[in-house]
Amino acid sequence: MFPDRVLSGMRPTGKLHLGHYHGVLKNWVKLQSEYECLFMVADWHALTTAYDDVSVIEKSVWDMVIDWIAAGVDPAHATIFIQSRVPEHAELHLLLSMVTPLSWLERVPTYKDQIEKMSHKDLGTYGFLGYPLLQSADILLYRGNLVPVGEDQVPHVEITREIARRFNHVFGKEVGFEEKAEAAIKKIGGKKGKLYEELRTRYQQDGDVEALESARALLAETQNLSHGDRERLFGYLEGGGKMILPESQPLLTAASRMPGLDGNKMSKSYGNTISLREDADSVAKKIKQMPTDPARVRRTDPGDPAKCPVWQLHQVYSDDATKAWVVEGCKSAGIGCIQCKQPVIDGVLAEQAPMFERAQPYLEDPTLVKKIVADGCERARELARETMRDVREVMGLAYS
Ligand code: SF4
Repeated sequence: MFPDRVLSGMRPTGKLHLGHYHGVLKNWVKLQSEYECLFMVADWHALTTAYDDVSVIEKSVWDMVIDWIAAGVDPAHATIFIQSRVPEHAELHLLLSMVTPLSWLERVPTYKDQIEKMSHKDLGTYGFLGYPLLQSADILLYRGNLVPVGEDQVPHVEITREIARRFNHVFGKEVGFEEKAEAAIKKIGGKKGKLYEELRTRYQQDGDVEALESARALLAETQNLSHGDRERLFGYLEGGGKMILPESQPLLTAASRMPGLDGNKMSKSYGNTISLREDADSVAKKIKQMPTDPARVRRTDPGDPAKCPVWQLHQVYSDDATKAWVVEGCKSAGIGCIQCKQPVIDGVLAEQAPMFERAQPYLEDPTLVKKIVADGCERARELARETMRDVREVMGLAYS
C-alpha cells in the first residue's frame, strides 16, 4: 500500500501562456492542497522532439519554474524537480524496456498522430517511440498512483498500468518470497506478528474481509519495517507476490479549451497566445488587434458575438452582467468593438497581477529558484532510490 501521490510534468519548450494556466496549472494548484504532488520539468521528454534545437530547453527550464510559482504552485506544498537531475528515471526506463513489448508502444494512439502532425521532423527515432515508456517510468518511479490527465492522455496511463501489472507479475514472485515474508513477520515482533498471522489465516481460509482490513491497518502502523518488507507482507496477506510498482489511475481533469487571440485553441503553434507574464501594454495591444465579427465593418453595423473570438474570451473573464452588456451592445451596435474589448483586457491583467507579484522575488534573486529545484531534486531522488532498491532487488541486480 502506497500513499496517494500525484506526478505531473511539463516540457520546457518555450514561454508558458494563459492556455497552460487554465489547462494545467490551475489544476496543479488545486491538487497540491489535496495530495502529495511532484511536478517535473520534463527535459528528457523535450529532447524526444526538440533534439535538433536544444537551446530552447536550457532557456526555458528556469523561466518555466518561475511561471509555475507565479501561477500559484507552492514549493512548500509540492516537490518541483528536473527530470534529468534524477538519473533513476533513465535507469527505470531501461529496466522497464526489458519487459515492454514493442507492440504496446507502437499502438499508443498519439504515436502515429504526432508523427503525422510533425512531419517536418524526423521522429523515426527510438527515443520518440519510447517516450510513453519514459513517461511510465516517471510515474512508476514515485509510485505515483494518481496522474492528472485529459481524455486524450488516458491511453498513456493505461500503458503505465499494463507495464506495472506485467512487471509485478514477472518479478513480484521473487526468489524466496515466502521465506522473506516469514522473516518479515518475525521483525514485526511477537504479539503483532502473531496477530498478523491470525488475521491472514482468517482472510485466506474464511474470506474474512474485516480481518484483511485489520491486517492492513496493522502493517500501516507498524514502524520497524522496511518499505520492501511492508510491501512483501501486504502481498503475502492476499496470497499474491510483492507489489513493487502500483498501478496508476488517471485523475481526469475537465477539458479546458482556452481560446486564443484568433478564436482557435490557445497554442504556441498557432501564434495566438498571451504569455503568463506578458507586460500590460503588449496584452492590451494584442487584444485590441483581435479580429471581430466580420459583419461589423462600421461602428454602426450590428454584430453577432457568436461569430467573434473576443466573445470567447468574455466567457472566461467576464461576469454575467458584462456578458449581457456585450450581447445587447453588439447586436444593437450600441457599443464599439474597442469598448467591448476593454473588460477582457482588464480581466487578463487582473489575473496576471498576482502572478507578477509572486514571480518578482525569484526574478530579483535567481538563486532562490535554483535552491527550490535543488531541494526538490533531492526529495525526488530519495523517493526514487526507495523504488529502485526494490526494483533492483527483484530483478537480481542488488549486488552487495
Ligand atoms: S462588439 Fe464585441 S462581440 Fe461584438 S463584434 Fe465587437 S468585439 Fe465582437
